[in-house]
Amino acid sequence: MGDAEPSKGHHVVDAALPPGLRESLITGRIHSAYLLTGSGPTPRDTALCFARALVCQAGASEAPCGSCSSCRRSEPGEPIALDGTGKKGPPMRHVGDHPDLLWIERGASDTRVRIGQVRAIQAAMRLRGSEGSHRAAVIADAEWLNQEAQNALLRLLEEPPPRTSLILVTQSPAGLLATVRSRCQRIGFPAITGDALEGEEAADIVDHLNRIATASVPQLLDWAESFRGPRAIAAAGTNELLGVASAWLHREICDASLAGRTDLDGALRAFETLQRCRKGLAQRNANPQMVAERALLALRDGALQ
Ligand SMILES: [Zn+2]
Repeated sequence: MGDAEPSKGHHVVDAALPPGLRESLITGRIHSAYLLTGSGPTPRDTALCFARALVCQAGASEAPCGSCSSCRRSEPGEPIALDGTGKKGPPMRHVGDHPDLLWIERGASDTRVRIGQVRAIQAAMRLRGSEGSHRAAVIADAEWLNQEAQNALLRLLEEPPPRTSLILVTQSPAGLLATVRSRCQRIGFPAITGDALEGEEAADIVDHLNRIATASVPQLLDWAESFRGPRAIAAAGTNELLGVASAWLHREICDASLAGRTDLDGALRAFETLQRCRKGLAQRNANPQMVAERALLALRDGALQ
Protein backbone atom coordinates (compact mmCIF):
# COMPACT_ATOMS: atom_id res chain seq x y z
CA MET A 1 0.00 0.00 0.00
CA GLY A 2 2.92 2.28 0.77
CA ASP A 3 4.03 2.57 -2.84
CA ALA A 4 0.62 3.41 -4.22
CA GLU A 5 0.36 6.68 -6.07
CA PRO A 6 -0.81 9.53 -3.90
CA SER A 7 -4.55 9.48 -4.18
CA LYS A 8 -6.63 12.50 -4.96
CA GLY A 9 -9.95 12.68 -3.22
CA HIS A 10 -12.12 9.65 -3.87
CA HIS A 11 -10.48 6.40 -4.52
CA VAL A 12 -11.71 2.91 -4.67
CA VAL A 13 -10.58 0.56 -1.94
CA ASP A 14 -9.77 -2.66 -3.69
CA ALA A 15 -8.81 -5.08 -0.91
CA ALA A 16 -11.61 -7.61 -0.66
CA LEU A 17 -12.63 -8.74 2.81
CA PRO A 18 -12.94 -12.48 3.36
CA PRO A 19 -16.51 -13.69 4.03
CA GLY A 20 -16.00 -14.07 7.80
CA LEU A 21 -15.07 -10.41 8.21
CA ARG A 22 -17.70 -9.12 5.79
CA GLU A 23 -20.31 -11.09 7.68
CA SER A 24 -19.16 -9.54 10.96
CA LEU A 25 -19.79 -6.09 9.49
CA ILE A 26 -23.16 -6.95 8.01
CA THR A 27 -24.56 -8.67 11.07
CA GLY A 28 -23.01 -6.08 13.38
CA ARG A 29 -21.54 -8.88 15.46
CA ILE A 30 -18.10 -7.39 15.79
CA HIS A 31 -15.75 -9.47 17.91
CA SER A 32 -13.36 -7.91 20.36
CA ALA A 33 -10.42 -9.74 18.81
CA TYR A 34 -9.50 -11.23 15.45
CA LEU A 35 -6.48 -13.25 14.44
CA LEU A 36 -5.57 -13.09 10.75
CA THR A 37 -3.11 -15.78 9.77
CA GLY A 38 -1.26 -16.42 6.56
CA SER A 39 1.86 -15.62 4.61
CA GLY A 40 2.47 -12.79 2.20
CA PRO A 41 1.01 -9.31 2.39
CA THR A 42 -2.68 -10.33 2.24
CA PRO A 43 -3.40 -10.78 5.98
CA ARG A 44 -1.84 -7.41 6.75
CA ASP A 45 -3.66 -5.61 3.92
CA THR A 46 -6.87 -7.26 5.05
CA ALA A 47 -6.34 -6.08 8.64
CA LEU A 48 -5.93 -2.53 7.38
CA CYS A 49 -9.01 -2.80 5.21
CA PHE A 50 -11.11 -4.31 8.00
CA ALA A 51 -10.00 -1.69 10.55
CA ARG A 52 -11.01 1.04 8.10
CA ALA A 53 -14.31 -0.71 7.43
CA LEU A 54 -15.08 -0.74 11.16
CA VAL A 55 -15.15 3.07 11.26
CA CYS A 56 -16.49 3.69 7.74
CA GLN A 57 -19.82 5.50 7.61
CA ALA A 58 -21.07 3.71 4.48
CA GLY A 59 -23.18 0.56 4.47
CA ALA A 60 -21.62 -2.62 5.79
CA SER A 61 -21.61 -4.27 2.38
CA GLU A 62 -19.38 -1.64 0.81
CA ALA A 63 -17.19 -0.52 3.72
CA PRO A 64 -14.56 0.80 3.55
CA CYS A 65 -16.07 3.03 0.87
CA GLY A 66 -12.98 5.18 0.47
CA SER A 67 -14.95 8.40 0.23
CA CYS A 68 -16.78 9.14 3.52
CA SER A 69 -15.11 11.53 5.97
CA SER A 70 -13.95 8.63 8.10
CA CYS A 71 -12.37 6.81 5.15
CA ARG A 72 -10.63 9.98 4.09
CA ARG A 73 -9.07 10.25 7.54
CA SER A 74 -8.08 6.59 7.63
CA GLU A 75 -6.44 6.63 4.24
CA PRO A 76 -2.93 5.36 4.90
CA GLY A 77 -0.22 7.77 3.86
CA GLU A 78 3.50 7.25 4.15
CA PRO A 79 3.74 5.19 7.35
CA ILE A 80 5.59 6.72 10.29
CA ALA A 81 8.48 4.47 11.37
CA LEU A 82 7.88 3.07 14.84
CA ASP A 83 10.37 2.54 17.60
CA GLY A 84 9.39 0.08 20.31
CA THR A 85 11.31 2.04 22.91
CA GLY A 86 9.64 5.30 21.86
CA LYS A 87 13.01 7.04 21.53
CA LYS A 88 13.56 7.43 17.80
CA GLY A 89 9.92 7.39 16.90
CA PRO A 90 6.52 6.75 18.41
CA PRO A 91 5.75 3.24 19.71
CA MET A 92 2.38 3.32 17.97
CA ARG A 93 0.75 5.20 15.10
CA HIS A 94 -2.70 5.95 13.79
CA VAL A 95 -4.01 4.58 10.51
CA GLY A 96 -3.89 7.71 8.34
CA ASP A 97 -4.78 10.27 10.96
CA HIS A 98 -7.90 8.54 12.19
CA PRO A 99 -8.06 8.96 15.96
CA ASP A 100 -9.85 5.65 16.53
CA LEU A 101 -7.56 3.40 14.50
CA LEU A 102 -4.23 2.37 15.99
CA TRP A 103 -1.40 0.37 14.54
CA ILE A 104 1.68 -1.28 16.01
CA GLU A 105 4.35 -3.48 14.48
CA ARG A 106 8.00 -4.20 15.17
CA GLY A 107 10.02 -1.03 15.33
CA ALA A 108 12.46 -0.44 12.47
CA SER A 109 15.41 -1.59 14.59
CA ASP A 110 13.60 -3.98 16.93
CA THR A 111 13.47 -7.76 16.76
CA ARG A 112 10.32 -7.76 18.90
CA VAL A 113 7.05 -6.03 19.40
CA ARG A 114 7.66 -4.55 22.81
CA ILE A 115 5.47 -4.49 25.89
CA GLY A 116 5.53 -0.67 25.82
CA GLN A 117 3.75 -0.81 22.47
CA VAL A 118 1.05 -3.10 23.82
CA ARG A 119 0.65 -0.77 26.81
CA ALA A 120 0.31 2.21 24.47
CA ILE A 121 -2.56 0.44 22.73
CA GLN A 122 -4.06 -0.61 26.02
CA ALA A 123 -4.13 2.97 27.29
CA ALA A 124 -5.56 4.35 24.04
CA MET A 125 -8.24 1.67 23.84
CA ARG A 126 -9.49 2.50 27.30
CA LEU A 127 -10.17 6.11 26.31
CA ARG A 128 -13.59 6.86 24.96
CA GLY A 129 -13.88 6.72 21.18
CA SER A 130 -13.43 10.23 19.83
CA GLU A 131 -16.55 10.21 17.70
CA GLY A 132 -18.42 7.63 19.71
CA SER A 133 -17.48 5.15 17.04
CA HIS A 134 -15.79 1.80 17.14
CA ARG A 135 -12.07 1.74 17.87
CA ALA A 136 -9.65 -0.81 16.54
CA ALA A 137 -5.97 -1.59 16.93
CA VAL A 138 -3.91 -3.68 14.54
CA ILE A 139 -0.91 -5.63 15.82
CA ALA A 140 0.81 -6.37 12.54
CA ASP A 141 3.68 -8.59 13.73
CA ALA A 142 1.88 -10.52 16.43
CA GLU A 143 4.22 -13.53 16.23
CA TRP A 144 6.98 -11.20 17.38
CA LEU A 145 5.29 -10.29 20.65
CA ASN A 146 7.44 -11.57 23.47
CA GLN A 147 5.97 -13.43 26.42
CA GLU A 148 5.74 -10.30 28.55
CA ALA A 149 3.95 -8.38 25.80
CA GLN A 150 1.59 -11.32 25.22
CA ASN A 151 0.69 -11.37 28.89
CA ALA A 152 -0.12 -7.66 28.76
CA LEU A 153 -2.17 -8.29 25.64
CA LEU A 154 -4.00 -11.11 27.37
CA ARG A 155 -5.35 -8.70 29.97
CA LEU A 156 -6.77 -6.54 27.20
CA LEU A 157 -8.28 -9.62 25.55
CA GLU A 158 -9.82 -10.75 28.81
CA GLU A 159 -11.49 -7.42 29.54
CA PRO A 160 -11.92 -5.65 26.23
CA PRO A 161 -13.27 -2.10 26.55
CA PRO A 162 -16.71 -1.85 24.91
CA ARG A 163 -16.80 -1.14 21.17
CA THR A 164 -13.18 -1.97 20.57
CA SER A 165 -11.50 -4.62 18.44
CA LEU A 166 -7.98 -5.93 18.32
CA ILE A 167 -6.79 -7.29 15.01
CA LEU A 168 -3.74 -9.52 15.26
CA VAL A 169 -1.82 -10.45 12.13
CA THR A 170 0.59 -13.38 12.07
CA GLN A 171 2.35 -15.42 9.48
CA SER A 172 2.01 -18.43 11.73
CA PRO A 173 0.03 -18.52 14.98
CA ALA A 174 2.53 -20.97 16.54
CA GLY A 175 4.37 -18.18 18.35
CA LEU A 176 1.25 -17.05 20.20
CA LEU A 177 0.14 -18.30 23.58
CA ALA A 178 -2.82 -20.67 23.36
CA THR A 179 -4.68 -18.38 25.76
CA VAL A 180 -4.22 -15.48 23.34
CA ARG A 181 -5.27 -17.55 20.30
CA SER A 182 -8.36 -18.90 21.99
CA ARG A 183 -9.73 -15.42 22.63
CA CYS A 184 -9.56 -14.41 18.99
CA GLN A 185 -11.89 -15.01 16.11
CA ARG A 186 -9.59 -16.83 13.65
CA ILE A 187 -9.46 -15.90 10.00
CA GLY A 188 -7.11 -18.04 7.95
CA PHE A 189 -5.84 -17.25 4.50
CA PRO A 190 -5.66 -20.32 2.30
CA ALA A 191 -2.54 -19.01 0.59
CA ILE A 192 -0.50 -20.03 3.62
CA THR A 193 1.21 -22.93 1.84
CA GLY A 194 1.07 -22.04 -1.85
CA ASP A 195 2.11 -18.42 -1.39
CA ALA A 196 5.14 -19.23 0.69
CA LEU A 197 6.67 -21.07 -2.25
CA GLU A 198 6.41 -18.16 -4.63
CA GLY A 199 8.96 -15.46 -5.30
CA GLU A 200 12.61 -15.53 -6.22
CA GLU A 201 14.01 -16.05 -2.74
CA ALA A 202 11.61 -18.91 -2.10
CA ALA A 203 12.51 -20.52 -5.44
CA ASP A 204 16.16 -20.50 -4.42
CA ILE A 205 15.37 -22.14 -1.08
CA VAL A 206 13.13 -24.73 -2.75
CA ASP A 207 15.92 -25.52 -5.19
CA HIS A 208 18.20 -26.33 -2.26
CA LEU A 209 15.49 -28.27 -0.44
CA ASN A 210 14.89 -30.48 -3.48
CA ARG A 211 18.47 -31.69 -3.11
CA ILE A 212 18.62 -31.84 0.69
CA ALA A 213 18.39 -35.64 0.92
CA THR A 214 21.81 -35.95 -0.70
CA ALA A 215 23.42 -32.90 0.89
CA SER A 216 26.32 -33.50 3.27
CA VAL A 217 26.28 -32.27 6.85
CA PRO A 218 29.06 -29.72 6.17
CA GLN A 219 27.03 -28.36 3.24
CA LEU A 220 24.04 -27.87 5.54
CA LEU A 221 26.16 -26.22 8.21
CA ASP A 222 27.46 -23.86 5.52
CA TRP A 223 23.93 -23.01 4.54
CA ALA A 224 22.97 -22.39 8.16
CA GLU A 225 25.97 -20.13 8.51
CA SER A 226 24.38 -17.69 6.10
CA PHE A 227 21.90 -16.96 8.91
CA ARG A 228 24.32 -15.17 11.17
CA GLY A 229 24.93 -11.47 11.65
CA PRO A 230 22.65 -8.78 13.10
CA ARG A 231 19.83 -10.64 14.79
CA ALA A 232 16.91 -8.85 13.17
CA ILE A 233 18.18 -9.67 9.68
CA ALA A 234 19.31 -13.19 10.55
CA ALA A 235 15.99 -13.93 12.28
CA ALA A 236 14.01 -12.66 9.30
CA GLY A 237 16.08 -14.87 6.99
CA THR A 238 15.65 -17.94 9.18
CA ASN A 239 11.96 -17.20 9.48
CA GLU A 240 11.69 -17.13 5.69
CA LEU A 241 13.61 -20.41 5.48
CA LEU A 242 11.30 -22.05 8.02
CA GLY A 243 8.19 -20.74 6.27
CA VAL A 244 9.29 -21.96 2.85
CA ALA A 245 10.57 -25.28 4.23
CA SER A 246 7.27 -25.89 6.07
CA ALA A 247 5.26 -25.23 2.93
CA TRP A 248 7.61 -27.32 0.82
CA LEU A 249 7.56 -30.28 3.22
CA HIS A 250 3.80 -30.00 3.59
CA ARG A 251 3.48 -30.33 -0.18
CA GLU A 252 5.93 -33.25 -0.29
CA ILE A 253 3.99 -35.10 2.41
CA CYS A 254 0.65 -34.47 0.70
CA ASP A 255 1.97 -35.67 -2.67
CA ALA A 256 3.56 -38.78 -1.15
CA SER A 257 0.43 -39.56 0.78
CA LEU A 258 -1.73 -39.18 -2.33
CA ALA A 259 0.65 -41.53 -4.11
CA GLY A 260 -0.14 -44.13 -1.47
CA ARG A 261 3.09 -43.97 0.49
CA THR A 262 2.86 -44.81 4.17
CA ASP A 263 6.49 -44.38 5.24
CA LEU A 264 6.00 -40.77 6.21
CA ASP A 265 6.99 -40.87 9.89
CA GLY A 266 10.38 -39.29 9.32
CA ALA A 267 8.93 -36.49 7.22
CA LEU A 268 6.19 -35.85 9.76
CA ARG A 269 8.79 -35.67 12.54
CA ALA A 270 10.77 -33.18 10.49
CA PHE A 271 7.61 -31.13 10.03
CA GLU A 272 7.06 -31.07 13.80
CA THR A 273 10.66 -30.01 14.32
CA LEU A 274 10.16 -27.14 11.87
CA GLN A 275 7.14 -25.93 13.83
CA ARG A 276 9.12 -26.11 17.09
CA CYS A 277 11.91 -24.16 15.42
CA ARG A 278 9.49 -21.44 14.35
CA LYS A 279 8.17 -21.24 17.87
CA GLY A 280 11.67 -21.13 19.35
CA LEU A 281 12.65 -18.33 17.02
CA ALA A 282 9.54 -16.32 17.76
CA GLN A 283 9.18 -16.87 21.50
CA ARG A 284 12.53 -17.65 22.97
CA ASN A 285 14.94 -15.42 21.12
CA ALA A 286 16.73 -18.54 19.90
CA ASN A 287 19.90 -18.01 17.86
CA PRO A 288 18.81 -17.87 14.17
CA GLN A 289 21.85 -19.79 12.91
CA MET A 290 21.33 -22.59 15.45
CA VAL A 291 17.64 -22.76 14.59
CA ALA A 292 18.48 -22.97 10.88
CA GLU A 293 20.98 -25.76 11.60
CA ARG A 294 18.48 -27.75 13.56
CA ALA A 295 15.81 -27.29 10.90
CA LEU A 296 18.08 -28.24 8.00
CA LEU A 297 19.41 -31.36 9.73
CA ALA A 298 15.86 -32.42 10.57
CA LEU A 299 14.83 -31.86 6.96
CA ARG A 300 17.72 -33.99 5.73
CA ASP A 301 16.86 -36.80 8.17
CA GLY A 302 13.19 -36.71 7.22
CA ALA A 303 13.63 -36.24 3.47
CA LEU A 304 11.43 -38.49 1.36
CA GLN A 305 13.49 -40.38 -1.18
ZN1 LIG B 1 -16.20 5.09 4.23
